[in-house]
Amino acid sequence: MKIIMLGAPGAGKGTQAQQISAKYDIPQISTGDIFRANIKNNTELGAKAKVYMDAGDLVPDDLVIDLVADRITWDDCKDGYILDGFPRSIPQAEALDEILRSREDKVDYVLDIDVPDENIIHRMGGRRACPNCGATYHIEFNPPKVEGVCDNCGGELILRDDDKPETVKERLTVYHDQTQPLIDYYEKEDILESVDGTKEIDDVFNQIVEILGE
Ligand code: ADP
Ligand code: AMP
Repeated sequence: MKIIMLGAPGAGKGTQAQQISAKYDIPQISTGDIFRANIKNNTELGAKAKVYMDAGDLVPDDLVIDLVADRITWDDCKDGYILDGFPRSIPQAEALDEILRSREDKVDYVLDIDVPDENIIHRMGGRRACPNCGATYHIEFNPPKVEGVCDNCGGELILRDDDKPETVKERLTVYHDQTQPLIDYYEKEDILESVDGTKEIDDVFNQIVEILGE
């Protein structure tokens, strides 16, 4: 099963992708996590991506597309995968279509997690992320068992630099300009499924399981 997670920054893509990954046993491929790991490891790609990420902008398409094209050929992707944060622009979606078509493959579901902008700022301000394993929490809506410590791996939780309010505003503008048009794009391909992302985390997941099947 191949799934794309769509939605504004902070809509809950990563939170849901983790649960989908556990239930259906397919990997979560988060381009944001891949860039953050590259930044942490001081790679050339990380240095290039950081400039855009810190400004709340999208990393240029060519840097992202090659990375995903390679990642989905890994062995753990043979039964499917969840693309979390990719594609984020029409050129990325067209490139993905082309790559999959050339491999006689296709995406099965595009899940659009719908959350209005007014909920997003509050969600991002309370988000805490584990730089070690990529798990995300919310200080109010989804707190870790021990404050500041990741339940999964014991890592120290952080407030991401790009979750500060001024960067979040820019990320929302970028989302509306460049990513939201993908809703129409996938509606035309007839694989778009909309999920009400304002519900509680478990309710959102239940909606997703209804779509994907048990
Ligand atoms: P995205 O991957 O779309 O950027 P996240 O999954 O990281 O979003 O979620 C953003 C923040 O909102 C996190 O702090 C997360 O714990 C919280 N969150 C996710 N889903 C919900 C929900 N349904 N209700 C309330 N808070 C949520
Ligand atoms: P995320 O963790 O998905 O919120 O992504 C964090 C940041 O990484 C984004 O604000 C972008 O700067 C960058 N990024 C992640 N995925 C992509 C993508 N598909 N295209 C361009 N930039 C991306």
